Amino acid sequence: MASTGVSTLVGHVIGGAPTPGVGDRRQDVFDPATGQVTAQVVLADQADIDAVVAAALAAADAWAQTPLGKRAAVMFAFREQLIARTAELAAVITAEHGKVLSDAVGEIGRGLEVVEFACGIPQLLKGEYSDQVATDVDVFSFREPLGVVAGITPFNFPAMVPLWMAPMAIATGNAFILKPSERDPSASLLLAEMWADAGLPDGVFSVLQGDRVAVDGLLTHPDVAAVSFVGSTAVAKHVHATATAHGKRVQALGGAKNHAVVLADADLDLAATHLTAAAFGAAGERCMAVSVALVADSVADALLERLRAAALAVRVAPGSDPASDMGPVITRAAQQRIEQIVTEAVDGGARALVDGRGHTVAGHEGGFFVGPTVLDGVSTDMRAYAEEVFGPVLVVLRVAGLTEAIEIVNANPYGNGTALFTASGDAARTFQRSVSVGMIGINVPIPVPVGWHSFGGWKDSLFGESHVYGPEAVRFYTRGKVVTSRWPRSTATSFHFGRTTAG
Ligand code: NAD
Repeated sequence: MASTGVSTLVGHVIGGAPTPGVGDRRQDVFDPATGQVTAQVVLADQADIDAVVAAALAAADAWAQTPLGKRAAVMFAFREQLIARTAELAAVITAEHGKVLSDAVGEIGRGLEVVEFACGIPQLLKGEYSDQVATDVDVFSFREPLGVVAGITPFNFPAMVPLWMAPMAIATGNAFILKPSERDPSASLLLAEMWADAGLPDGVFSVLQGDRVAVDGLLTHPDVAAVSFVGSTAVAKHVHATATAHGKRVQALGGAKNHAVVLADADLDLAATHLTAAAFGAAGERCMAVSVALVADSVADALLERLRAAALAVRVAPGSDPASDMGPVITRAAQQRIEQIVTEAVDGGARALVDGRGHTVAGHEGGFFVGPTVLDGVSTDMRAYAEEVFGPVLVVLRVAGLTEAIEIVNANPYGNGTALFTASGDAARTFQRSVSVGMIGINVPIPVPVGWHSFGGWKDSLFGESHVYGPEAVRFYTRGKVVTSRWPRSTATSFHFGRTTAG
C-alpha cells in the first residue's frame, strides 16, 4: 500500500466484523473520472475463504429457524436503511464505477424492488396441501433454505446486482456471502452496515473481497450449497462448470449483445431518444445496454440523422457532475479496448457518424472517458458486432424488415435482451414469440423485469436453469419437501358428518 500512498483499505466483513483478513494481496481501486488510485482492496486467500464460510455456516442454522415474521421484519428494516442511505451509497458507486449519480440512484431503486418483494416472504413461502388423498392420508409440501449460499457480482452494478441476490437468499433463510467486483468494492461494505443496522444477525450477510482466488474458493468449498453469479460469459461458463462439478446449485448469468429493431412504421423520434439513452447510459456498461440497432432500410437514414444529433448532445463529464449524462468507463484497459474495436471497424469500412475515440474532459484529462460512438455500415464479422463491447458504442445494421431482423437476433450467441420499435401489434407479437431471447421490450429499450418477475437471458447469457430474483429466486434458494402423513383415527373420538359419536 505504501507504493501508492493511499490509506483507504477496503476489507472483508466476516461474522459481522470488518476485517482485512489474513491474506496480504492487494489491488488498486480507481476513480475512473480522474484515473487516480483512491483505495486498495484486499484480495482473499484460502484462509479468508475458510473463515467467511465458517462464520456463515455458524450463523445459518439459527437464521433458518428464525420465524418468518421476524425475517420479514429485518427485510422491512433493511428497506428503510436503503432508502435513508441512498444518496450516500450512490456517491460511493459513482466514485468507484464512474456512472452519473442519477443512474447510481436508479440502480439502488431497482435493487429496492427486490427488497420489497422479499418483504412478502411469509406469503411467498407458503406451501401446498392436499387433504385426504387416501383415507386418513394428507400430503403437503414446504420449502427449506439451502444453508450457505454465495453471490459473485460484476463491476457494472455494485449495488443492484448484489441486491438481486442477497434479499431473496436471506429472506428464504440462508446465510449469504457476497464476493463483489474488486474494481468497485466499497458499496458492499455499506450494504453490510445496512444489514447489521436492520437487525440481521452477524454472519448471515458476509462480504469476501477478492479476485478469482476468492471465486474459485467459493465454487469448490464443501460448505457452500449454491452459487449465484453475474458477469462475463467466459467466467459464467467457468463458474457453472466448476460449481456444478462440486455438487452445487448454480445460476450463472453471462454477457450480452442486445439488439434493438426499428421497423419502418416506428416513431423515429421516440426510437432515437430511447436508443441513445439505452446505448450510452452508464457509458454502455450495462448487460441490457442496446449495442446493435437493426434498422429498416427505408428509415435508416432518417433514424441515423436523429441518432447522430442525439449522440452529439450527450454531455460527457464525471458522474459526480450533476450536468453529466455519461461518465467514464471503468478502467484504462477498458477505454483502450473499446477504442481499438472502433478503430478496427472503421479500418474495415464502417463509417463513424459520431466518433468518441480520444474524448477528453477538461480538468479530467487522466479520466477513462470514451465519447458516444455511432457506427454505420458494420458487418457481422467485425468485433464491433461480434463481441460485447461494453462501452458507449452503437452499431447500426440495415435490414429489409422484421423477418431479417429476427434471423439476425436469433443467430447471435447471446440472448439477454432485445427490443422492437414499431406501431404494429402484429409485428410486436410475431417478434416476441419468435426471438430466442429471455427479456423483450416492445417500444421499451431496456426491458429489465420489475422485482416481482424474474430476470434472465437465454443461450450464452445464462448458464443454469434459474433466473434471478422474483419467484424463481424463491425456488433457487430453497429446496422442497413433500410430506405424506397418515394419522389413524381413534374410534373413541372419531367424528362423522351429520351425527355425533354419542348419538
Ligand atoms: P467479470 O466476469 O470480469 O467479473 C465478474 C466476477 O467474476 C467478479 O466478481 C470477478 O472478480 C470474478 N472473476 C473475474 N474473472 C474471473 C476468473 N477468471 N475466474 C473466476 N472469477 C473471476 O465481469 P465484469 O467485467 O465485472 O462485468 C461485466 C460483465 O458482466 C459483462 O459481460 C456484462 O454483460 C456482464 N453482466 C451480465 C449481467 C446479466 O444479468 N446477464 C448483468 C450485469 C453484468
